[in-house]
Amino acid sequence: MKPIATRLLLVFVSMVVLLSCAATVGSAERDRGEQRATRVLPSDDGTQERLGGVITVVWGNVRPGGSAVANERFFLHEASGAETELLIPPDLVRAAGGARRLSGRAVEVRLFSTRLAYAKRNPEVAAVVRSLRILPNRPATKAAKAVTGPQPWVSILCKFSDVTAEPKSLSYFQGMYSSSYPGLDHYWRELSYDNANVSGSAAVAWVTLPHPVSHYATSGGGDLGALLADCTAAADPYVFFPDFVGINMMFNEQFGPYAWGGRQWVSLDGQSKIYRVTWEPPWGYSNVAVIAHEMGHGFGLPHSNNADGDSNPYDNPWDVMSDSWYWALHDSTYGTVGKGTIAYHLDILGWIAPAKKLDIDSMGIYTATLDNLELQSTINLRLVTVQIPDSTMYYTVEVRDRAGYDGSLPDFAVVIHEVWPSRKEEAWLVDPVNPDNGADEGAMWRVGECFEDVANEIEICVQSATTEGFTVQVFYGDTGKIFTDGFEGGGTGDWSTISP
Ligand SMILES: [Zn+2]
Repeated sequence: MKPIATRLLLVFVSMVVLLSCAATVGSAERDRGEQRATRVLPSDDGTQERLGGVITVVWGNVRPGGSAVANERFFLHEASGAETELLIPPDLVRAAGGARRLSGRAVEVRLFSTRLAYAKRNPEVAAVVRSLRILPNRPATKAAKAVTGPQPWVSILCKFSDVTAEPKSLSYFQGMYSSSYPGLDHYWRELSYDNANVSGSAAVAWVTLPHPVSHYATSGGGDLGALLADCTAAADPYVFFPDFVGINMMFNEQFGPYAWGGRQWVSLDGQSKIYRVTWEPPWGYSNVAVIAHEMGHGFGLPHSNNADGDSNPYDNPWDVMSDSWYWALHDSTYGTVGKGTIAYHLDILGWIAPAKKLDIDSMGIYTATLDNLELQSTINLRLVTVQIPDSTMYYTVEVRDRAGYDGSLPDFAVVIHEVWPSRKEEAWLVDPVNPDNGADEGAMWRVGECFEDVANEIEICVQSATTEGFTVQVFYGDTGKIFTDGFEGGGTGDWSTISP
């Protein structure tokens, strides 16, 4: 053990570095759009080690009973084609606006250089970032991030050189993209209200990797770069990759505790671009819900979470991007079937038309009729957002029903999330009672019940049920009597004046 004085000094130095990092990113955010000089930080060995390139993010997921800690991995893709895995301290990710906002951005990072040299030799080791600057390239607009039209993916099936098993047949993988339930084309058409589909997707026959499992497996969840490079190279004779937006890699053995989904900058068949990419062990593709979840990461979605505050982001039962295993339908061929995702995520992907959304950010009393998210066509709303004053946070209000892919959800109810875009899991279920169980009454808002955020003078009440949803009333700001007349008890009859 190191002497205490040294350990204290190390803690102090780490804190200074983290504080410096946060300050640098904060400034870069404030000054977005203009060049500025960054403060020069001393390096641990006296040299400056910096890299510039595009960041991509890959999220890891476990099977039921596995480690529940969320795993995010960051990759920097340099113009030269070199790729380096980065370890970015959580404070730095938060200061940059969150992982999803970093994805696809051009950045300059300063590294602990001795660690970089080590990381370059050992691909399973990430280079540790000490500061990060987002370069003033245009942040992708919401329209540019929308996922619309055909999104063809290719499934490539890769066997480790020391494992001969082919756990599923080629026809299984081809059928997984089917346009009928529970195929992925049908699934994405229904989730996107036919704004997007995966028509044109394909699967190609099993090929063999040059190395055994042990070459790729790491305790951190696998050498994702080597798996991607070797699997695409082995399948290359059968695939012209630029025809596809995404690559689902199906491996015949697990290479760590996770399945992974996200994006990678890849040069294939003479073209370099960012692909949506997933890495799937057999337990992944045996359940189409896992593929839906990983493709969701590929399309740009983060995890959501319930409100229990633990480190497990896989326990929001209302979202395929969180708890994809339970409260889900089951198919005899394709296993656990993906449920829908939350309205916040549908909006990120551009699938909620402006006319189907009400954004509340000024004082008043608002009434809205929301239909359940599974309903394919509606004249009513799908999403109400309620801004939390003086913050970047807001509430989302949506209706879910046991219909379509949501057929095994807990019940027909209004569901509310608290959204904080720079948080690791951006949307948390609002569930004041027994928050570790997001499937109980605490998370389901019924007729006559109100959610209250007293400090922020926000009240969201469920007024009445309709055929496909609920009418909700939102009281926003100091409207005079919101928190003073016993309304908390659900006495909606107390309210007769509606404005604006
Ligand atoms: Zn995930």
